[in-house]
Amino acid sequence: MQPPKIQQNVTLQPYNTFGIAVKANFFATIHSKEELLYCLQHPDWKTMPKLVMGGGSNTLFTKNFEGLVIKINLMGLKIVQETEEFVYLQVGAGENWHQTVLYAIANDWGGIENLALIYGSVGAAPMQNIGAYGVELKQSFHSLEAVKINTGEELTFDHAACQFGYRQSIFKQALKNQVVITTVTLRLTKRNHQLNTSYGAISQVLASTQTPPTLQSIAQTVIQIRQSKLPNPEQIGNAGSFFKNPEIPRSTFEGLQKNYPQIPSFAAEHPDEVKIPAGWLIEQAGWKGKRIGNVGVHKDQALILVNYGGGTGSEIWELALKIQQSVAELFTIVLHNEVNVY
Ligand code: FAD
Ligand code: NAP
Repeated sequence: MQPPKIQQNVTLQPYNTFGIAVKANFFATIHSKEELLYCLQHPDWKTMPKLVMGGGSNTLFTKNFEGLVIKINLMGLKIVQETEEFVYLQVGAGENWHQTVLYAIANDWGGIENLALIYGSVGAAPMQNIGAYGVELKQSFHSLEAVKINTGEELTFDHAACQFGYRQSIFKQALKNQVVITTVTLRLTKRNHQLNTSYGAISQVLASTQTPPTLQSIAQTVIQIRQSKLPNPEQIGNAGSFFKNPEIPRSTFEGLQKNYPQIPSFAAEHPDEVKIPAGWLIEQAGWKGKRIGNVGVHKDQALILVNYGGGTGSEIWELALKIQQSVAELFTIVLHNEVNVY
């Protein structure tokens, strides 16, 4: 095997959707498991700090990375099992998530159509159990393969082992920065698709058409809504929602309702809790559309922090801390970042 090309002193600006201009001491693009194992195990690299990257669409760099960035370009899609009801599609971690959704729809395989136009790679999708428009990855997830960073050990995680939660998994908690996900196997429906059109914005658009929804029409609707609402990182740097929607005890919510009768809420994972849209809290705290220097809060979606160009990761992080503080003062709710901050 040819060792992978490892570059020195590389700018990470093209590799993160915030467009933050930090540098990595070393940078390798990985195309095979052998190249990955070389970076993890060769004596030159074994003890060096490592950062795994997909599309950089859920990452904020606040400083240079003193170590080796491993950019995952492990490609390939193959059917590994098939029944009358399901196809089990194994996808390389470096494949683009949205293209994988389109591939599934083109084959009339269902389950991930609501997750169209989510940025980034397939390998990062289990990290936070990506979700949108009433659907989460975990509903179509079967298993994944990974390699342990410090030992090179090859591991398989089934559904239970991933400990999926709301924008959460074991890979963002106990195993944070400890494994490289190399493949993800999805279990997609071949028939009797369970279409989810309950999410407000989707049902409104679909209600205006006379035909019954299909995998294709749901994905198209999601793409249309997203394109009309969300800032395109190619035009304005961002990493989607900066914070998670907080899930708070129902009793706390009822207390808040006395002062804020219009506070919106949705069902949370736990029946004793409710989910509050973080965007609403940030807007009430007066941050929507605010700009500080080259960074700010998006004018239409207060949950999205943006880099207008030339902003630094520290500036975005300082803004995030200010927002966190004012939301805590106003509502006694602590916002947690969804974005991975380095
Ligand atoms: P990266 O930013 O490259 O990495 C994210 C984290 O995962 C990092 O900690 C990294 O170290 C780790 N990681 C990446 N690849 C691997 C791997 N192969 N093995 C181990 N660790 C790895 N997210 C949603 O859930 N729902 C949405 O609707 C949504 N909408 C978005 C809209 C916009 C406009 C943008 C910019 C982002 C949005 N996101 C959304 C966030 C983001 O697209 C997802 O979290 C996505 O899964 C990140 O993929 P990535 O490859 O870019 O991850
Ligand atoms: P929205 O429709 O304006 O709704 C605001 C928030 O309320 C959402 O975050 C959503 O929570 C919640 N919500 C709305 N209707 C809901 C329902 N019927 N059931 C449960 N929760 C509901 O949101 P938006 O900003 O335009 O985003 C639309 C979808 O895309 C959301 O699912 C959102 O998560 C996803 N998205 C995610 C990111 C990201 O980076 N993570 C970025 C953009 C959009 P949930 O977030 O839990 O769905």
